[in-house]
Amino acid sequence: MTAQSKRRALIETARTMNRVGLNQGTSGNLSLRLDEEFLITPSALAYDRCTTADLVRLDMNGEVTGGTRKPSSEWRIHRDIYRQRPEARAILHAHPPWCTTLACLQRDIPPFHYMVAVAGGSSIACAPYALFGSRQLSDNVLAALDEGRCACLLAHHGMVCFADGPDQVLALAIEVENLARVYVQALQVGEVPLLSGQEMEEVMERFAEYRNR
Ligand code: 13P
Ligand code: ZN
Repeated sequence: MTAQSKRRALIETARTMNRVGLNQGTSGNLSLRLDEEFLITPSALAYDRCTTADLVRLDMNGEVTGGTRKPSSEWRIHRDIYRQRPEARAILHAHPPWCTTLACLQRDIPPFHYMVAVAGGSSIACAPYALFGSRQLSDNVLAALDEGRCACLLAHHGMVCFADGPDQVLALAIEVENLARVYVQALQVGEVPLLSGQEMEEVMERFAEYRNR
């Protein structure tokens, strides 16, 4: 992928995330790992108005190395995930309605459906609330992504996930939002039975085989 096609893919993915209802307005942000740096969407600019020249390049110290716009206010979450998780190549933060519904209730997504394991663990944790753009929020997100998890909710805020490319991160975000929606629907009917730790272990083993095919 050329540098320019990476930039186009980033913007296209950001626009798609709004078009499919995963996010709205200038909320959310998206980034892509480069060799030693990463590209991120600018702060407070509508994705429809964003061009490849508006993207901001940052190094792993959080210094701007390219672009004239202000980087996303959540650059620190993106930087910290890239530093701590070498497998992360694209990161998506959004305010999807169903994930955010659970996040506003400070609730994790428990193992009510086997696909919860798609986010790398037996639950999708909700990181405690902290001010948007703060170091504390990034610390809370990193802790909620422990034990190999690649998605979490942010209390009273939204959702973050990462994957190995823009298409994959979008697909993961759609899956997590679907899980959140189904979980909220199930809660409306009554108590939701959960899969056991053993059952979720089996799913994770099966996923590892499924991905290696
Ligand atoms: P930015 O526009 O600065 O990326 O912020 C949006 C957001 O979702 C903050 O949490
Ligand atoms: Zn946000």
